Amino acid sequence: MISELSIKISSDKETPASFEIEELNDFFSDKTVDDLLQWGHNTFGNEIVAGTAFGSSGLVILHRLFELGLPIKVFCLDTNLLFNETYSLWKKIEKQFGIEIETVSPILTLTGQSALIGDSLWSKDADKCCHLRKVLPLKKYLTNKKAWISGLRRSQSSARSKIEKIEWDAINNTYKLNPLADWSAEKVWEYIHAYKLPYNQLHDDGYPSIGCIPCTSPAQDPSNERSGRWANLEKTECGIHFRGVESRKK
Ligand code: SF4
Repeated sequence: MISELSIKISSDKETPASFEIEELNDFFSDKTVDDLLQWGHNTFGNEIVAGTAFGSSGLVILHRLFELGLPIKVFCLDTNLLFNETYSLWKKIEKQFGIEIETVSPILTLTGQSALIGDSLWSKDADKCCHLRKVLPLKKYLTNKKAWISGLRRSQSSARSKIEKIEWDAINNTYKLNPLADWSAEKVWEYIHAYKLPYNQLHDDGYPSIGCIPCTSPAQDPSNERSGRWANLEKTECGIHFRGVESRKK
């Protein structure tokens, strides 16, 4: 298996041919989360990073990295608008796993954003707010990276239903690994409970998906994990994973 996981790709920031990505996904279709993480490390070395917003899926990935002993750097996009519960979980995870999670910050502070563009941009132009506080900082951070790992799952929403375990992220010009692409929410929570991992207390209050305070509410539709995000808008994604606005329909 180790030699199989050494399969090489053209990883020099060049857009890969679609057949290369297809072949990789065929290969990893029946492989484990650990196999994909190990391959990511073998292939990209210290130029692969893992992003987390401390959601349930992200916790599974952080725990697998910890168990495997893979020295992959972890980062969080801190919009300065996260819940206290999220910041508190951040500290707990760092302590439990003995790691330091890198903060990726927007160029503008909230005060600076208010002064330049006006107060509460999220309530007037949420796409612009996400662009300034999430999309641009991530793009800048990934400039000198070749790949990143996310906790996306197909079962999270219609917008995410077609994601693959390995993708070319054209927004950031990197590979993107989605090791939990084929996991259900139930499987994630079974894992969290089995390993007694700390998790965001807001999950117990009806928030299956947690982002910034102004744009997160309890789930409106229990069958759609992300229905509490931008609940009063058509918007379902911040833009770091997909371009444009996706339909709310399942
Ligand atoms: S989720 Fe809301 S507050 Fe956070 S960056 Fe996007 S629009 Fe702004």
